[in-house]
Amino acid sequence: MVDLKGQYQSLQTEIDTAILEVIRSAYFIGGPKVASFKKNLSDYLGVKHVITCANGTDALQISLMSLNLNAGDEVIVPAFTYAATAEVIGLLGLSPVMIDVKEDTFNTTAELIEAAITPKTKAIIPVHLFGQSTDMQPIMDLAKKHNLYVIEDNAQAIGAEYTFADGTKKKTGGIGHIGCTSFYPSKNLGAYGDGGAIFTNDDDLAFKLQKIANHGQSERYFHDVLGVNSRLDAIQAAVLDIKLQHLDSYHHARQVAATYYDEHLSEVSQLQIPARASNSSHVFHQYTLCVKNGKRNELKEFLQENGIPSMIYYPVPLYKQKAYAKYWNGKELPVTEVLSDEVISLPMHTELDKETLRFICEKVKEFFCK
Ligand SMILES: *Cc1c(COP(=O)(O)O)cnc(C)c1O
Repeated sequence: MVDLKGQYQSLQTEIDTAILEVIRSAYFIGGPKVASFKKNLSDYLGVKHVITCANGTDALQISLMSLNLNAGDEVIVPAFTYAATAEVIGLLGLSPVMIDVKEDTFNTTAELIEAAITPKTKAIIPVHLFGQSTDMQPIMDLAKKHNLYVIEDNAQAIGAEYTFADGTKKKTGGIGHIGCTSFYPSKNLGAYGDGGAIFTNDDDLAFKLQKIANHGQSERYFHDVLGVNSRLDAIQAAVLDIKLQHLDSYHHARQVAATYYDEHLSEVSQLQIPARASNSSHVFHQYTLCVKNGKRNELKEFLQENGIPSMIYYPVPLYKQKAYAKYWNGKELPVTEVLSDEVISLPMHTELDKETLRFICEKVKEFFCK
């Protein structure tokens, strides 16, 4: 699905040198590499504050912990996402309210969110799934009207750009009150281990987030609130700082591959190629098709027999997972149900050459012509 070796080889000298520098400096936690990466990432995203942490799940958890929520408060989250987004809500004693998404973009909408708002609703976590932004302007308007916090789960869309109605553009993660991302190795900006970050333009929230990520300390050995221990280490920061300089070219490589898939697969009538939102760029964390003839699982098997990896993100709606059933009101969400049966993601990374893409497309077409 991804080729992390190929990507490393193209930057090997630079990355090896940076890692050695960390080891020789013995600044393993914090220090200049982490500071430099935070500065460069905040410039890249156009956000005031970047707080680094240990992984994307922690980023979401620390964000929720900063909002002074109470047990039983409701947080709205799409049901078609990775479990981490809802997991942290439940872990903190809050209630995840799982809602549907749109069939074309796989993202949720302000209308779907509005229908789920109750007097207990305190926050919304839109997920920019597979690499493009949720339609954020109506969500921010809705949040203002109902006095809700918006935390963007930007683990899959770092670098995607959202265009507001007046034409202004913002990178995802810097639109809501707080944005979160993951540097898991296979993410678009991936570390060589775990990592995550939190973004905000709000000085007070930034102070709280930083404090919570560091055992609730505002000053060493003075603990104001209960926090967690969540840090990005210097070796990961060194790798990420280098890869950040190449992130836009990585996105370009992904977009070229996506266009190739589009051009060669759009003729297959049983397939729906990924939609492009009119107000967001797409950084193609995943290239996800919908198989419309009920043969998604057979396609996956056929590709596997031909040595082509593929993945199902996500095969089971969150509310049908054992751990989340207790938060479910018993009503199926129609689009999430359909997508769980129809989606399939093809190999997508920065090192896909024409030869590989051609082979994959040929095999996909062969399956539908059999
Ligand atoms: C990867 C991912 C996360 C979690 O990130 P980790 O670094 O693995 O904790 C959260 N949400 C979404 C949508 C993700 O894709």
